[in-house]
Amino acid sequence: MLTIEWSLASGWEKPYIKPLGNLSLHPASSSLHYAIELFEGMKAYRGVDGKIRLFRPTLNMDRMARSAIRAALPPSLGVKKPTKALLYVIMSPVGPYFASGSFNPISLWADPKYVRAWKGGTGDCKLGGNYGSSIYAQQEAMELGCQQVLWLYGEDHQITEVGTMNLFLYWINEDGENELATPPLDGIILPGVTRQSILDLAQNWGEFKVSERYITMSDLIAALEENRVKEMFGAGTACIVCPISKILYKGKHLHIPTMENGPQITTRFLNKLSDIQYGREDSDWAVLVS
Ligand SMILES: *Cc1c(COP(=O)(O)O)cnc(C)c1O
Repeated sequence: MLTIEWSLASGWEKPYIKPLGNLSLHPASSSLHYAIELFEGMKAYRGVDGKIRLFRPTLNMDRMARSAIRAALPPSLGVKKPTKALLYVIMSPVGPYFASGSFNPISLWADPKYVRAWKGGTGDCKLGGNYGSSIYAQQEAMELGCQQVLWLYGEDHQITEVGTMNLFLYWINEDGENELATPPLDGIILPGVTRQSILDLAQNWGEFKVSERYITMSDLIAALEENRVKEMFGAGTACIVCPISKILYKGKHLHIPTMENGPQITTRFLNKLSDIQYGREDSDWAVLVS
């Protein structure tokens, strides 16, 4: 195998030829070349009682099975069934995300020139290829002084997801109702466990309208002009919820008044979900690991 190493300090080194050696992942693996690969993101939480809990793990396992089918990996329905596969579980300790000071609002860059997912594509599965191709847009967002990409879709600039999180808008809708809205699972949205849990909690509270609906940039701008936007946040396992304070769109900075509004709803979801995850509250969503 021809090998050339690179480092920031000294650039490309001399090329040399050496045997493959004892690599556990073959460099010709189709996962590296064609991204025939999938992943999951699930955490284990050490609770206030010292016990370890998983949060709705069957939802992750169901999603993993769906990703596997879409990636033509086992369990496979494809015609060319693979004869071998490798499952890694990387177990890395992470501190409690729910530490004070980590609840900082983020700024987003929204530009339709990059598209995260499309109808008939793989955006609704956790396949590696979805993420590698999004890094370039993420870098451009950072060059423009924003932290993450707000992914738009279609001629009408539908708001879909933020970075690798699902997106929620808490607002007074066009009909004057208090509404918590997130885009529907129409094939371009990743079905997040956190997303589903937030919808389930809000339905259960029954205090405001809960909708899976389309939201376009012009819907959002109209609502901002009429002071109807209350909170906007991303949702995912890593941070639970992440408040949004700014969107750069068509050269203009739109201010989202999430922090000025508490953020009440965002904080309520954060507290509720982390209470369940860390065992401060009993719930059948928490599965004890013995
Ligand atoms: C993983 C992921 C999410 C969040 O899913 P959770 O199950 O809540 O962690 C949202 N969007 C994308 C694109 C993702 O990859």
